[in-house]
Amino acid sequence: MKPIFLDYGENLPEIAAREISSCANPQNALLVFPNKRPGYFAAKYLSEKKGPIISPKIFSQDEFIDELFSNLKDKTIKVKRFYDPDLAAVLMFDLKKEFHSFLNKKEGEAENPFLLAWAMRMISAFEECKIASVEPKRLRKFDFLSSPDKSADSLNKKFERFSDLYEKFYFLCADKGFYTRAMKYSCLAERSKDCAEYCLSFEKAVFGGFFVLNKSEKIILQEIAENGNSLFIYGDSPLLEGKSVHDRPKKELKREKPKIKFVKCLSRQHEVFELKKELGCSDGASKKSFGQDNAVIIPESSYLPPALEIVFPNISEFNISAGYSLKMTPIYGLFLALENLFGSLNAQKEFSARSYFSFAFHPYIKNFKANKGKENAEKTRMAFQNLRDYAAKEKISFISLKELSDLGGSEVKEINESLIAPFLNSSSLGEFCEAAEDFIDSISFYSTGNLHPYWNYFPSIMKEKAQEIKNSLLSKVSFKNTKEYVSFFNSYCSASAYPFSGSPVRGLQGLGFLESRNLKFEKIYFLGFCENIFPSVKKEDEILPYEARLELGLSTYKEKSEIYSYYFERLIYSSKEAVFFYTQDDESGLSPFGEKLKWDYEKEKIKYEERFSLSPVSFAPYKIKPVKKTDKMKDFLKSQIYSYSSLDAYLSCGLKFYYSKVLRLGEEDELMSEREPKEIGEALHKILEKFFFMKGFESPYKEKIIIMEKALKEVSDKILKDKETNGISYMEYFQIRKRCFDFLNFHEKDRSKFKILEGEKEIHFEINVKGHVFKLKSRLDRIDDRDGEIVVCDYKTGGLDFKKYIPKASVEKDGLPEIFQGNKNKIGSLQLPVYCMAAETIYKSKEINASIITLGLPQIKEDLLFKKEDNRPAKLKIYKEAVSLALDEIVGCDSFNPAEDEKECEYCPFARFCNIYNS
Ligand code: SF4
Repeated sequence: MKPIFLDYGENLPEIAAREISSCANPQNALLVFPNKRPGYFAAKYLSEKKGPIISPKIFSQDEFIDELFSNLKDKTIKVKRFYDPDLAAVLMFDLKKEFHSFLNKKEGEAENPFLLAWAMRMISAFEECKIASVEPKRLRKFDFLSSPDKSADSLNKKFERFSDLYEKFYFLCADKGFYTRAMKYSCLAERSKDCAEYCLSFEKAVFGGFFVLNKSEKIILQEIAENGNSLFIYGDSPLLEGKSVHDRPKKELKREKPKIKFVKCLSRQHEVFELKKELGCSDGASKKSFGQDNAVIIPESSYLPPALEIVFPNISEFNISAGYSLKMTPIYGLFLALENLFGSLNAQKEFSARSYFSFAFHPYIKNFKANKGKENAEKTRMAFQNLRDYAAKEKISFISLKELSDLGGSEVKEINESLIAPFLNSSSLGEFCEAAEDFIDSISFYSTGNLHPYWNYFPSIMKEKAQEIKNSLLSKVSFKNTKEYVSFFNSYCSASAYPFSGSPVRGLQGLGFLESRNLKFEKIYFLGFCENIFPSVKKEDEILPYEARLELGLSTYKEKSEIYSYYFERLIYSSKEAVFFYTQDDESGLSPFGEKLKWDYEKEKIKYEERFSLSPVSFAPYKIKPVKKTDKMKDFLKSQIYSYSSLDAYLSCGLKFYYSKVLRLGEEDELMSEREPKEIGEALHKILEKFFFMKGFESPYKEKIIIMEKALKEVSDKILKDKETNGISYMEYFQIRKRCFDFLNFHEKDRSKFKILEGEKEIHFEINVKGHVFKLKSRLDRIDDRDGEIVVCDYKTGGLDFKKYIPKASVEKDGLPEIFQGNKNKIGSLQLPVYCMAAETIYKSKEINASIITLGLPQIKEDLLFKKEDNRPAKLKIYKEAVSLALDEIVGCDSFNPAEDEKECEYCPFARFCNIYNS
């Protein structure tokens, strides 16, 4: 039959359905598209045309190949079920000698993870060659096909060649009945007549939207086109030339330019908020309805979680077919935490405390109900919290599982024994996978994990993956340590994704770019239209470099680029309106496809809209829920010792205070954060303390240099010795050294006359607020006597502006009552007022001041709380009142409330606890 070439704007699934409906017996027709989605739309159009009928056979290309393969009359082909690890086992065990030789390794020399990683890479290269029907003898010419050791490539030994491994690998796979996808294609290409014969059994066979074919596909489709009672429908484009089984007609293509708009944003989340605006959704309003001719294109999976949180809840009916990547789920995050945990084991079989607590405070672990689910999760949280407090206090860096169990009590012991220890006892991949399955089951039964909305899908996927490995020929493979098992398992699971359910033909469609192939939409919203995201075309890998691909007829990055161009043009020029969202930052800007679109419009003097959205991201839609304070919690809060940092956290956001100071999640930072700025800060503090209290400190400058050297040496020697565990690096040492001498010069300038009274002084004091006595503490870096005035100095080693650490002018201007009515962020920091209050308790009759000395800025500076012109008593009174009001509210108010200023949320470390990004 004569092929049909569609103009832009013509609807391929609809026309395919029209062709089928013209059959006398439409159910005896065949319909094949390269991907699944057009089939759903074609079925819908068909039922609209013909009413309820038995559907014709509708396949995606891969389903069609499976169907043809299972219908082959060749009874000599035996097919067995297998998984990817089985294929790796063929290379690692059956072709052990040849595989090692290719890798230029002696048998037993290479570790299993190395072999496994190479086996996976080789198999994917083999599959590319096989699907393109590349003969082994053709590969022999390509000695440059890469092996890990380049010297091996030039050798003439037979088995060092990729081609020999390739030939033997497929021979063995066929022998075992492991028919891979590429083997099926290649086998069918050899029996293309059978494929055409299969199509002849239908009244009509329609093939829609095929573009760029590999060699096997070309042979099969060519045969079907010539002898298979078939009709081919193409979306026409100049790019189709030479890329299909038919020649395209020499005709002018009609191309009406849609209305387009570019929205430049500051971040990915920002793009999603802008999408919401463009869709006209707003919170509190009723859900918006869209027809299936509206699509949101989601070219990268990282856009899906914010889109699911921010946009789709406002839509009455939608379908998301872009798969949700397993990598973005909490259960995968938990396995990454396990990998990190086992990776931290030292020679004494101790875990790093940082990795252990990062695992323990994963939501699924800290909410584990001990005693087979009979205990409350609260007990587990408390147990881990106490254990972490203890570890932080004792500065424990490494600790054994037994010590953790002994210190942590029954809940911690149960978790250690039932969730961690079984992995340590695994001696093969199969055993590891069994432990992984039990681990997922335990979390499912005894943790709150199963309350997570996507719990059901993703742990099941991970269990399925564990079963695939366990039941494969790799099951008996051993690795050197537990971390290697988890790493392999995580990387094996990492490519999995789960599509959300929903009607594929109703409501707003959320599609990955390639899923939108061959579909037509009236209005398109394109997220992630950025140069580092779209088009997603990677350069060739090192096993099959560009030159080899050209010679062998394999697809190259240029061809992949053409595929993107073709489907992008068809998608956009078939629509009436398209809005593109992209992030402009240091790493990326508008996609090259966007630049080209603009150029095309400009050439024809057609206007397009462009806007740069600078408006801050609004998190309001989340309606972040406050956390209720129970009476028990209020009693607990009354008994606490407060520092300025608790007050500052509370003023910026009640929930932040709750997470960091009540649940102590913030202490993760102290114990677990990478050391760089903190270690440097601590070392600097210690050196300066030593310096000021060393004998001879008040000597002339030249001698002070010697004293500073001495202080530096004493402190850094000790820290550097600790380098292997938690010490500083030599690089950091030199940074510290430079800062110390900068400080000496700064101090020498006009401060050398000051009398240094105290260093690193901790002061505990109390204040009475409405009858309740609150305990407070402050740790003061230095206390000076400056001509009778007491000045408390605080060193800041970060590079931040010191203004961040002092109260804002608005405290006096706006008045506290107004500020405490929902504007607490206007106070700024209460650090220095609290320090003054602490110092007052010792230096009772003296004038007190406080200052910040910024050691982290290029130029060391000091800023005082009270300036000469200030009415000091009046100011201090206001600050003290602010401290009292904050304390009163902490224990008095009935809930911990979200930030009063949304800007606080933007970089908040607790954003995920507030479910801002659904992470
Ligand atoms: S995300 Fe916002 S509301 Fe939640 S803790 Fe952080 S600042 Fe507070």
